[in-house]
Amino acid sequence: MAQNPIVRDILKRYQQVWSLGHSMAVLGWDTETHMPESGAKARGIASGQLAMLVQKATVDLEGLVRKAEKARDLDDMEKGVVRVLRRSLDYYLKVPPELVNQLQRETTEATVVWRTARERSDFKLFRPHLEKIVELERKVADKLGYAKHPYNALLDLYEEGFTVKDADKVYAVLIPESKRLLKRVAADGVYPSKHPLESVTYDTGAMQKVNEEILGLLKMPMTRFRMDVSTHPFTTQIAPDDVRITTRYEGKDFKASLYSTVHESGHAIYGLGLGPKLAYTPVGDGASYGVHESQSRFWENVVGRSRDFVKLVRPILKQNLPFVEKYDAEELYLYFNTVRKSLIRVDADELTYNFHTAVRYEVEKKIIGGEVKVAEVPEVWNDTFESYLGIRPGGDAEGALQDVHWSGGSFGYFATYTLGNIVAAMIWHKMGKGALVQEALSGGDVDELKEWLGSKIHRFGAIYPPKELQERVFGEAYNAERLLTYLSEKFA
Ligand code: MG
Repeated sequence: MAQNPIVRDILKRYQQVWSLGHSMAVLGWDTETHMPESGAKARGIASGQLAMLVQKATVDLEGLVRKAEKARDLDDMEKGVVRVLRRSLDYYLKVPPELVNQLQRETTEATVVWRTARERSDFKLFRPHLEKIVELERKVADKLGYAKHPYNALLDLYEEGFTVKDADKVYAVLIPESKRLLKRVAADGVYPSKHPLESVTYDTGAMQKVNEEILGLLKMPMTRFRMDVSTHPFTTQIAPDDVRITTRYEGKDFKASLYSTVHESGHAIYGLGLGPKLAYTPVGDGASYGVHESQSRFWENVVGRSRDFVKLVRPILKQNLPFVEKYDAEELYLYFNTVRKSLIRVDADELTYNFHTAVRYEVEKKIIGGEVKVAEVPEVWNDTFESYLGIRPGGDAEGALQDVHWSGGSFGYFATYTLGNIVAAMIWHKMGKGALVQEALSGGDVDELKEWLGSKIHRFGAIYPPKELQERVFGEAYNAERLLTYLSEKFA
């Protein structure tokens, strides 16, 4: 508990905000996993009302927060509480309740429409919803205020302090070098661009067993954690001891399902590793979306796509998926690491992944900046995609409709995936260029990695802003060069 009496008071009253957020998290999880389609309207109404209650309960704390900001004796956690609440207050004091309500209502309904639109590969179905959401997002940016570009107001919601200028700089380093690296990998011919296992179909029940055993391998604490199925896998922190993930089953190319499970488990390990002191407080969450993504990408790629991990999962695979039998560990490693320019972000390999986020970043910047109308999105999306990857989506499902984010109103999110890749590579670097990963996995035990991440990153939650946390752990904040080093050491 906090020492400072004002912060202590804040935390006591914050229980209301936390509890409302908790309820919304359960509803959000249910919307994606079990709710029948026709439940969307009611869910939208209820979520909108709850969002306004969160706003009111947060705004009610303003006086106390202002007092706490003047206190001089706050420790790091108390400062974190005040900083995170100030960020919330900035939002809730500037964005009017009716806009908060509308945004929540629209995005809850749109998520369900998006699912159908994607299934039918029909952007027209989704278009009126996206038009509404973009209009609301632009209003939010205007209300929040911004320097230089309205997109800056939205980027900051996902990554504290992150701007268009920062993102442009990151991509200016990453994109040209990644292109060169990709050419080299193609010329070397070691990593294949295709693998026969990609077209092999699997039994969903058997793959479910594989995923359950993967959770065992990752030592997920099953009394504090669960896994379900959704169109677009995600992780949600319902409570300190209730973290949930989803995975997906498409019936072929089993690595997609496998790596969805490992990726989301990475997010969950972060949520489950937050310091117990942080429970039910404003800092009981990840430091930022970028830092959160660094955890999922670390487990998915640095751990999950390594030769040592393949050795651990091969027996599980052989036991449940008989067709794996004839592939040795090296063959499986190559299957897990095929490299090619492809259409779907969530299936992209490590070398081409950042092209996918760059496309979305560019398109969003234009949408929010008012340069591109929603009706033009599929065309602009495909043009931008082609300019980065040299291939063109054939339909909306593999183009502008492939991601869930816009339906949920998440504009400003995608660049944080690339920040996550960068920070994951910084962890690899800090772990002796992956030596610790090798050591832990060859002993068949992931606890060493969890302890490392837990003690350096997880236990601090959102106490420090993301850049400060990175400075503390790595002596530097998101350095794109680290990712290029990691990629060239692995692939070239
Ligand atoms: Mg993720």
